[in-house]
Amino acid sequence: MEHYNFTTLIIFSMPKKIAKKNSVRPVKSAMKREHTKKKDHEQSPKADKQKKEEHVHKGERGYAPLRGMKDILPKDGNDWLDICHVSEKVASAYGFSYMETPIVEQASLFIRSIGKGTDVVDKEMYIFDDKDGGKICLRPEMTASIVRAYINHGMQTFPQPVKVWYMGPMFRHDRPQAGRYREFHQFGCETIGEHSPVVDAELISVAYNTLRDLGLETSVHINSIGTLEDRSRYIVELVGYLRTKRSYLSEDSKYRLTKNPLRILDSKDEHDRAVLEEAPQIIDWLSDDSKKFFTSVLEYLDEAEIPYVLTPTLVRGLDYYTDTVFEFYTEGTEDGSQSALGGGGRYNGLSELLGGQATPGSGFSLGMERIAHAVRAMRNGNNTIPDGEAPIEQKKKSGIFFAHLGEQARKRTLYLIEELRRNNLTVHHNLAKTSLKTQLELANKFGVEHTLILGQKEVQDGTVLMRNMDSGIQEIIDQKKIAQHVRKMLGL
Ligand code: AMP
Repeated sequence: MEHYNFTTLIIFSMPKKIAKKNSVRPVKSAMKREHTKKKDHEQSPKADKQKKEEHVHKGERGYAPLRGMKDILPKDGNDWLDICHVSEKVASAYGFSYMETPIVEQASLFIRSIGKGTDVVDKEMYIFDDKDGGKICLRPEMTASIVRAYINHGMQTFPQPVKVWYMGPMFRHDRPQAGRYREFHQFGCETIGEHSPVVDAELISVAYNTLRDLGLETSVHINSIGTLEDRSRYIVELVGYLRTKRSYLSEDSKYRLTKNPLRILDSKDEHDRAVLEEAPQIIDWLSDDSKKFFTSVLEYLDEAEIPYVLTPTLVRGLDYYTDTVFEFYTEGTEDGSQSALGGGGRYNGLSELLGGQATPGSGFSLGMERIAHAVRAMRNGNNTIPDGEAPIEQKKKSGIFFAHLGEQARKRTLYLIEELRRNNLTVHHNLAKTSLKTQLELANKFGVEHTLILGQKEVQDGTVLMRNMDSGIQEIIDQKKIAQHVRKMLGL
């Protein structure tokens, strides 16, 4: 049914997509030409002073984030929040409680737990001298902090296991490259106080399903590195074998042979990889108990229909892992370590290492920047991780725009927007604008399919117009049923 009134007439006389206003560039460039004609010495002392002040304010080269650190820009804000919301939803549904720890901790917390000989501790920690004396650092990960908090707050007296989730920035002074930053964010879950294969399977399921809810099909690479004793026996065997092939190894691996031989298994160097093909595999050095535990984890994953790939060379970089270790990859990106979306494992010895009682634990963390890249790559139809500079694809047309005409309508709009918000609907709008044309231009920029329009007549009638931005067709809806109509339009 058509409804003719003042508002309708204005809208029907407009093109479907409003052309951009003529830009002011010609005027600007004319001014610029005029300006450049002036010689330096002709500029007024006032302009000179102003220019100098500007320089001081911005700094000679201007400010920018530190190398390897990034701003999250408004255009990427919704994608980022999606990752936060989905993570929160899945973790809460599985009974994990949110917790936070300080970003700055004693450096020795991580040096002890992650271990010397690892890249994180040897090369990547942001360590500072505290003004009160002692060494402090920006946290490079959060598991050690959570176990510290578990000990500090006597959480062993809480009902076990204690299940927590976290989200926040981590810092590693690595060489920045695609998917590798100096400040990055992790979402993670930890289950402390239970040694059971089903706990590991549950954690893998939480991470896998978080990624799946974000639209990412991943495969889980999984291995067991057994108990500390299993591992010590295996390391003797591995080092014995690698010594016989020492001359074929890369310089990095030669160094690791004495410092942290397990890390050689992670090497991407092609000569190292050739040597590793014949290397003893940790799985053959597991005790019967460790083998049984691992088999049981795999059975739970089978039951939950979570696809996994047995990966004998997967050992993870950090010293504190025992038994199950795992990493998540998007399809087709298993080749490089920086393409892992996340990883985790069991850490039964960590609590004791930090001065607490012997307490089993297990957890995972997912890299949020890498997830954001993978989501963007998936939308763009390829699976490679871009360098983070590529513009994120605009979301498909979504949401609704609310335009108003006149002061009375503006007041009523405020009420109706709140009504929609209470119904969990997001409404784009700009109440400061008065021109309907400008507001509809904005609606097009937001890419919405429908715009609600409220004029003076609609205020009096208790109605509102709903305009389809593509066809220009409008229908009148009852203000009392506004949320119901919008939901229907958005297919919710
Ligand atoms: P890790 O704590 O090293 O096991 O890392 C877990 C996950 O965090 C990785 O799989 C990545 O997704 C992410 N991550 C680790 N280091 C970085 C980094 N330097 N830049 C971006 N993401 C990272």
